[in-house]
Order: sequence, then C-alpha cells, then structure tokens
Amino acid sequence: MIRFRKTAAATCLLLAAGTAGAATLIHAGRLIDGVSDTPRVRMTIVVDGNRITAVEAGFRAAAAGDEMIDLSAATVLPGLMDMHVHLTGEQSRRSELDAVKKGEADRAYDSVPFVMRTLLAGFTTVRNLGDQFNVSIALKHAIDDGRIAGPRIFTAGRSIGTTGGHADASNVWGPYLSSDDPRLHTVCNGADSCREAVRQRYKDGVDSIKITATGGVLSQAKSGTAAQFTAEELAAIVSTAHDYGLKVAAHAHGTEGIKRAVRAGVDSIEHGTFMDDETMRMMKDKGTHYVPTISAGKWVYEQAQDPTYFPPIIRPKALEVGPQIQGTFAKAWKAGVTIMFGTDTGVGPHGGNAREFGFMVEAGMPAMAAIRSATIVPARYLGVDDRLGSIEGGKLADIVAVPGDPLADIHVMEHVSFVMKEGVVYRR
Ligand SMILES: [Zn+2]
Repeated sequence: MIRFRKTAAATCLLLAAGTAGAATLIHAGRLIDGVSDTPRVRMTIVVDGNRITAVEAGFRAAAAGDEMIDLSAATVLPGLMDMHVHLTGEQSRRSELDAVKKGEADRAYDSVPFVMRTLLAGFTTVRNLGDQFNVSIALKHAIDDGRIAGPRIFTAGRSIGTTGGHADASNVWGPYLSSDDPRLHTVCNGADSCREAVRQRYKDGVDSIKITATGGVLSQAKSGTAAQFTAEELAAIVSTAHDYGLKVAAHAHGTEGIKRAVRAGVDSIEHGTFMDDETMRMMKDKGTHYVPTISAGKWVYEQAQDPTYFPPIIRPKALEVGPQIQGTFAKAWKAGVTIMFGTDTGVGPHGGNAREFGFMVEAGMPAMAAIRSATIVPARYLGVDDRLGSIEGGKLADIVAVPGDPLADIHVMEHVSFVMKEGVVYRR
C-alpha cells in the first residue's frame, strides 16, 4: 500500500517505500555511493521501509507488489549533508529589525518553509549552528516526530559568545537591554561562566556546541576578525563540552582567534577566513575539521556592492571578509586539511545550499571529494556513519538524484530531481 499525504509544497509527494513482502526498487543509471572511488552504472537499490537492504548490479525487474522508481537517466547519490546552516532565519534588508521584533513563535513559523526548501534541495541532514531562542531544538523534534517535513537536524541551539561579541544577540537592542536578558543567554565571560553556558545547552538538549571565537560579519559590532575568547575560556568550553560528548564548532575569521580555538581543541573551524599555513598544519595534526562556507562569503560580498543593503557597521566587514574564503579553502584543501561541506545558509536563501559544490570545485577540489565532504565525511564526524553518509545495505534510505553527471558538471547538484529521506519520497 502506498501512503500519500498532502503538503503545502506542490512538488512534495510523500510515498512510504516498501510494505511487508514487497520492496521499492530504485534503478540508478549512475550511482555515486559516497564511499567508492568511482561511480557504477546500471545499479538497483533495494529499499524496505526506512532502510536500504541491498545494492545490486544491473536493473532488477520488479516482482508483484514491488514499487519501481526509475532513475535510470539520473545520477543517484546519498542524501546530502550541510554542516553549517541557520534554519530559523534568513538574512535580508530587514534583519536588523527582525532581531528586535521577532519572537520565538515568529522564528518557529518562519523556519517551516526553510526546512522544506532545504530538504527539497537534496539535503536530508544538516547541522544547525546557532539559532534564536533554541527554536531549532523544537524544530528538530517536530521533524523527527513527523509533524513537519524537513531534514534531520543536529543542532547547537544558541551560539555562545562573549559580551559584545559576534553571538551577543543583545548588540542590536541598543543600551536598553543587556546580554543578561534571559531570553537571549548567548554570552559567557570567564571560565566558570563558559562552563555553565555549555552545561545549560546540554540541559537544553543540543547535539553540538557552537562558539564565536572571533568577530563576525553580520553582527552589530565593529570588528569582524578580532579574537573574542581567552585561551582559558576556550579550554573551559572544550573540556566541558567533551565531558558531555558534545563536539565544539568554532566560528572564526581572524588568525589569532582561529589559532586559539584550534589549540584549545575545538573539533571544527567554521569560515576560517584568515587562517595561515601554520594553522593549517596545526589542524592537520589535531584532526580539526574545516567547514569553509564559501557561499556565505560570496553572498555577503555581493550584497555589500549595494551601499544601502547592510547597516553601515556591517558593510565594511562584508567587503573585507567575504571575498577571502574561497582562496583560503583552496589552500586548506591543498594542505590536506579535512574539509566538510557547509554553507552558512540563512546567510543567503534557504534551498541554495548546493551552490557551494560549484565554488569548491572551482577552487580545485575534485567533484568526487566535494560530494564526499557532503556525505560520508560529515557522517563519520557526527558518529552516524553506521546509518548515514552512503548508499549501502543496512543504512537508512536517504537517497537523492540529479540529472546528468556531477563529475562532469558539478552544477547539476543545484538541480536535485529526487529526494528520499528514510524511505519516504519528498520530491519526484
Ligand atoms: Zn553561521
């Protein structure tokens, strides 16, 4: 029996794959499975319920009761993973005002179309690195329970920064509300306070910790690059997070702040704009992953060409930081730093995540490596490679397809034509 559900999105068709005794057979013209070095052609993926049960050479004929999904003209890949998104907002000319006017309920409703667009773009798993009011934790639960459609979310909840720093949500509120306001709670100062901030997030139910180790572009603060935590504070954050089994993602643009974060043992550097050769060597030695977010750099730089788009305090930072990231990524890839795909979407429109592939390949990364950085590499990092990150028997059926061959033209990744998450078809 096939189950249909209506949703708001016209392209969204929900079909539960497989029922007792019958399977769903996906005929893949070309299969990039996430782990093999080369694609295979004319393959059948067998899906039963929410799992892949087998991957077979050739097109297996459907038996009575089987459902057949014909992707023989497409390239089939594992569900994509974006390791840096912000699903509870989307940057616009109104963002400064939104920061003051929008409450928890606004952010929650706003996020519903954002998660749908992300899923329909082929991203079945994302890491949300910073939200407002912990809305992404409720969002994750709503998706996990099947109340709304969206990608599987690993979330950091609210970011942690220092007073006046990139994550200080009260910066935009002027002198009348401080970062002590309990609705915000994104700030810690001193080692004890930072330990408490991590423990609060553990209590809130996060999957990961996000800190802002340097200034950033889109905050209402002067420096986009200055180091914003002491070594002592960083050590307190990292050791406490690791006690709870939480990895630490550090937003960082300036060299000193990146170095301090890497030395303190953070697990990933986000943006990494002004990282130098020494930092890249340190990251390789320590196994620190790099999430470049080239898309966000390009997007803020493009908007900053219009002098009226950003508030005056933001525009010079967008012009300084934005154009640097792709070059840094090219060097880091050459130097052998482990790269994970991440876009910072929310900065830039939701659903445009796959543009990042083009920027990565343009900067010298082979297409197959770029695809792995969005599939098996993040699955291993998140510790979920037993069930996600590749198309292999036993794994969850997160499967997408694109027209044409992404190894010949990486931009086909921007035209995902089929999306299955845990055996349920969302786009076809
Ligand atoms: Zn971000």
